Amino acid sequence: MVGTAGNLSARLPDDSFWITASGKPKGQLREQDFVRVGLDGGVKEVPHPDSRPSAETSIHRVVYRLFPQAQACYHVHSVEANLVSAWYGEQVELPPLEMLKGLGVWEEQPHVCLPLLENHLVVERIAQEIEARWSTESSPVPALVIRHHGITVWADSPQAALNLSRS
Ligand SMILES: [Zn+2]
Repeated sequence: MVGTAGNLSARLPDDSFWITASGKPKGQLREQDFVRVGLDGGVKEVPHPDSRPSAETSIHRVVYRLFPQAQACYHVHSVEANLVSAWYGEQVELPPLEMLKGLGVWEEQPHVCLPLLENHLVVERIAQEIEARWSTESSPVPALVIRHHGITVWADSPQAALNLSRS
């Protein structure tokens, strides 16, 4: 992750989650650089008094609401995702990648598409559109792309989310 861009979170058994505080360099994160937030958006724990939740917390909230199995959610502002998002409409068609097996897709010549959503200045609007999109469709891969913004992945553990975000 480059500079302070993007945000990482991990869910706790009570459905609250720790998320990177706003403006923290992702290559130098310390324990106090996270804030604990509830699914309702309320801040529950702030180890450092100057910390506030990431401005993009609403994306993590909607992911945890939609996917009960998700225990970690990584939102990465990757250059690759931004380039790819310029070439597609409402979904990104993946080639039959070998690494799809690692994402649970075991098919000969799989045809997998990642949902592609529009970017908005107000992040809450992105979250609303994620919720609306998943009310009518699903994806075989726990990931979505936001145009000219980045990729968001979720998984049943932080390590699995890390592996996914690097795929
Ligand atoms: Zn973002």
